[in-house]
Amino acid sequence: MRIHYYSLNKVSPTVGFREAVIHGQAPDKGLYFPSHIPQVDKQIFTHIEALDDAEICFRVIQPYVNGEIPDEALFTIVQQTIAFPLPLVQVTSHIASLELFHGPTWAFKDVGARFMSRCLGYFTRQHKLNTGKAQKIVVLVATSGDTGGAVAAGFEGVEGVEVVILYPSGKVSKVQEQQLTTQGQNIHAIEIEGSFDDCQQMVKHAFADMALRSRVFLTSANSINIARWLPQQFYYFLAWKQWQDKDHPPVISVPSGNFGNIGAGLLAYAGGLPVQHFIAACNLNDVVPRFLQTGKYEVHKAIPTLSNAMDVGDPSNFIRILTLFEHRLDNLKNVLSAYSISDDETLQTMRRVYRNYGYLTDPHGAVGMLALERYMQAHPGRKGYFLETAHPVKFPDAVAEVMKDKIPAPSGLEALMQRPKKAIKARADNAWLRDFLESL
Ligand SMILES: *Cc1c(COP(=O)(O)O)cnc(C)c1O
Repeated sequence: MRIHYYSLNKVSPTVGFREAVIHGQAPDKGLYFPSHIPQVDKQIFTHIEALDDAEICFRVIQPYVNGEIPDEALFTIVQQTIAFPLPLVQVTSHIASLELFHGPTWAFKDVGARFMSRCLGYFTRQHKLNTGKAQKIVVLVATSGDTGGAVAAGFEGVEGVEVVILYPSGKVSKVQEQQLTTQGQNIHAIEIEGSFDDCQQMVKHAFADMALRSRVFLTSANSINIARWLPQQFYYFLAWKQWQDKDHPPVISVPSGNFGNIGAGLLAYAGGLPVQHFIAACNLNDVVPRFLQTGKYEVHKAIPTLSNAMDVGDPSNFIRILTLFEHRLDNLKNVLSAYSISDDETLQTMRRVYRNYGYLTDPHGAVGMLALERYMQAHPGRKGYFLETAHPVKFPDAVAEVMKDKIPAPSGLEALMQRPKKAIKARADNAWLRDFLESL
């Protein structure tokens, strides 16, 4: 049975993989969702240790792509997507850390950004081959930090794609700023004199400008794009390959903001991945923990915290999770628990984990760790892992509160900090952005 993608707003027509990737969001503003969840071949699980990582990931994603990228090209894309280690590292006797920060921008978003950029690159090349005409796609994205760097690195040099990244001046960390402003080529970093909300508002305004969109082919690279969402399943399968106690599947704790990452985990579970239980680990932005408790879904303005990549007051991917569970709260609660962790608790956890186990987490990972410990207190004897979603070096201020020694820097940090910054400064002005996009 072929998979197609329908809009969760149920007005726009269904589309194939390519259309869903190129447009990002359905015309009715709904998120795309697969028409059914393909079951992963059971054989994968009986001898997963013997399978190559790329082979496992290829088998997971192939049904979703539906032949719209031929197997050979898709296999290469998968290989390139996971061309860095994704190790499961033991922290305590019962808790491990799935380190997702060994990619080029030291955060898990590298996985989705690399997959998406290569899919788009494939589609623009095909278009040129088929029609003889180049199709220029402009990827427009607002970032509060990690998305920008991952997208810049993922799309660098991709033919036929121009990338425009808006970020709030002075509100991203130095490392994050270097990662999104030093690429050049087809990557255009715009430093907005305003907040992240201003940046997001400008992006929304541009997407709603139909006259602009008739002249410029705009798409988004935010986490709702299925080409960023679906490949996030990969590391849940690769963690299972590394999981020792196959008779007792893991409890998995996922630091969550927009709920794309944990949504991909739940999708993998729906496709057959063995998991004991999922935990949505949130900071003070607790829409989902409250919802699981009260059944009321109340969005709010984002609250700034130390784990700022999770400062989301209206998580856009949660609707996909509800859809997976057919909007049945009791079914969802059987599989998912959620905790809200304060900044003080985050710092205490970073300190305690470093002191007791010699393991340094970043603030997001610490939220994941503490949420997992809370769950285990209520369910003794279980084992699990949390996702370490970013390298601590990206959050030097929080880490400085925890330890005096210098953070062991990932290779390439020094070179990165010395690269010249190339950013265009602009006010939060919609007309300016329109003119800029038309000039590309
Ligand atoms: C984006 C991000 C998150 C949140 O992931 P979602 O998929 O939005 O829930 C968590 N940690 C880090 C470091 C991130 O960059």
